[in-house]
Amino acid sequence: MSERIYENDSYIMNFTATVLSCKENGEYFDIILDRTAFFPEGGGQQGDNGFIESVCVADTQLVDGKIVHKAMAPVEEGIEVECFIDWETRYDRMQNHTGEHILSGIIHDMYGYNNVGFHMNDDEVTFDVDGKLTEEDIYIIEITANKIIDDNHPISVIYPEGNELVELDYRSKLDLTEGVRIVNIEGVDLCACCAPHVATTSEVGLIKITRFYSNKGGTRLHVLCGGRARGDYGILSEQVTYVTNAASSKRYELNLVYDRLLSEIASLKEEHRNFKASVINEKVEEAKEGKGGYLYFVKDFTFDDLVKLCDVSTKKYTDAMSCVFCGNDDEGYNFVIGGEGSAQKFPEFRREFNARGGGRDMYQGKVQAKKSDIEKFFYID
Ligand SMILES: [Zn+2]
Repeated sequence: MSERIYENDSYIMNFTATVLSCKENGEYFDIILDRTAFFPEGGGQQGDNGFIESVCVADTQLVDGKIVHKAMAPVEEGIEVECFIDWETRYDRMQNHTGEHILSGIIHDMYGYNNVGFHMNDDEVTFDVDGKLTEEDIYIIEITANKIIDDNHPISVIYPEGNELVELDYRSKLDLTEGVRIVNIEGVDLCACCAPHVATTSEVGLIKITRFYSNKGGTRLHVLCGGRARGDYGILSEQVTYVTNAASSKRYELNLVYDRLLSEIASLKEEHRNFKASVINEKVEEAKEGKGGYLYFVKDFTFDDLVKLCDVSTKKYTDAMSCVFCGNDDEGYNFVIGGEGSAQKFPEFRREFNARGGGRDMYQGKVQAKKSDIEKFFYID
């Protein structure tokens, strides 16, 4: 079995090793080394990537107890190689994984809930606990977690054995009496875990719970730590600055800006509705009856407005047809036709102009025609 360098020192980013085997396997070459600091996917954390000499390692997986480096090209067997881990990515994952331990430890300690699911990708950490948490709980958990970061607790890996292990109260308890790797955040949390973590809590930098909600009787939390949390703060800060500058308001008044805009929009909509209603009423009042009924040509009316105009017109002139058109000769016209006689006239109109549309009581659609021809059709027949 390869020596697992990362188990006892998670800060080794470059190392030398001997290539035990290299075999083509699908799109990758599976490389096994006599020793490795590449962490294979496990414990909710992704496998490392990096380089073996100049060959890119896209992923690292544990297969039948062996650590397999998924390489993009072959490496000669038996030779000694220089290996390099993509340290930026690995460190980011160590920060986020450790942040999850801190949060799960606090939640277990304060509420007695267990972590029942952990997932980490390169955007965020999500994990589930088997109990309900309120907004106030989340606030307290986050404050406590960041205080633990400030207090700079050392983090170590211990392998207690026999009775010591059996009697030890740690999370993710296993039915084993030896070989259990326990991550010890001193004074905060003990948890069985195979993954690499940072050496002190202060290295986590910052913990931000971005979202939480009920899930399967418990609570799911979305979390950002370290550089990810700072990146998130940067983006939010930029957006707050953009909006508050544009609205000439203070930095902490984003909610007031939003509420003010909502109420302005509501009153503008109301004003617009009233204005449209008065325009419609005016058009209906001034309408002159032709032989075929009342014909309206309007501009910049939505379909809803056309329906309203037709509705007001048919209610006022109950014994005649009302026909409303909006558009122009080049692009065609949206129309709504209703009122007395429209049931007979509409099919005729549709045939004559090859119009699209239909309806019951009121007919609506679109037609490609000239205004003069429409006028002729509805007035002179
Ligand atoms: Zn862990």
